[in-house]
Amino acid sequence: MAGPEPLREVIARHGLQAAKSLGQNFILDRQLLARIAAIPGPLDNASVYEVGPGPGGLTRALLETGAKVVAVERDRRCLPALAELEAEFAERLHVISGDALEIDERAEAGDGAHIVANLPYNVGTALLLRWLAGPWPPWWSSLTLMFQREVAERIVAKPGSEHYGRLSVAAQWRATPRIAMAVHRSAFVPSPKVASAVVHVVPAEEPDGVDAGLLERLTAAAFGQRRKMLRSSLKAMPDALDALAALGIDPARRAETVSVAEFVALARALSSS
Ligand code: SAM
Repeated sequence: MAGPEPLREVIARHGLQAAKSLGQNFILDRQLLARIAAIPGPLDNASVYEVGPGPGGLTRALLETGAKVVAVERDRRCLPALAELEAEFAERLHVISGDALEIDERAEAGDGAHIVANLPYNVGTALLLRWLAGPWPPWWSSLTLMFQREVAERIVAKPGSEHYGRLSVAAQWRATPRIAMAVHRSAFVPSPKVASAVVHVVPAEEPDGVDAGLLERLTAAAFGQRRKMLRSSLKAMPDALDALAALGIDPARRAETVSVAEFVALARALSSS
């Protein structure tokens, strides 16, 4: 049986030259797309929310796993190609024309959806932070997201690493992120300047008694001046200095040496003070 039309032809037929302004770098290799679609685990009958389907390569790979997909795409030029997929996978694909930063994704995708996206780099981090915020456990089951390699390394970084910072703590204090796959620049058309990686995130249990907003303010202050000692970077938060003392955390340490568990303990102490 002949396979699906090569993506290069779908793109040519619909005149979908990648637009830099929309962060468009398409993946055309169907084997690679199938490997990305396999990262969340078995998706038969599962709900998937895809951001930025573009010409629909990853969308098709997801549909071929048996998933039901809701996809939001901002570039109206892609809609005719996606409508063809909607017709082929009757009842299993719903395409929304719109901006992922503005829609009520939970209402559209439904609770329990797996989020999968080859994200535009400029909106990727904003969406990740949104998905990591809010009530816990989250409405989504897992995140499978393409990032620039350097951002992926920041998400999974451990203390002591040059990549460890706010994003690491935000991603790790009540979730477990891992780099699931490195992706070479040449996998994209056009090739971006930097390497990419797919990050897989699953929710973990939320530690008791911690205010997420406080934890964020704490890491913003601590890493805002990452080369400084905590006693200086947290000066504007006198309660935090008291909490350091109470927890026996040396105020001469720098933020990049403070573990996620220590930041959580500090935020808990502040939440109860
Ligand atoms: N998923 C396709 C693939 O893997 O080949 C396309 C990936 S391309 C890097 C990013 C896609 O996201 C583009 O189709 C772009 O138009 C779309 N996009 C950019 N910003 C968006 C936004 N705010 N909301 C929804 N889609 C967006």
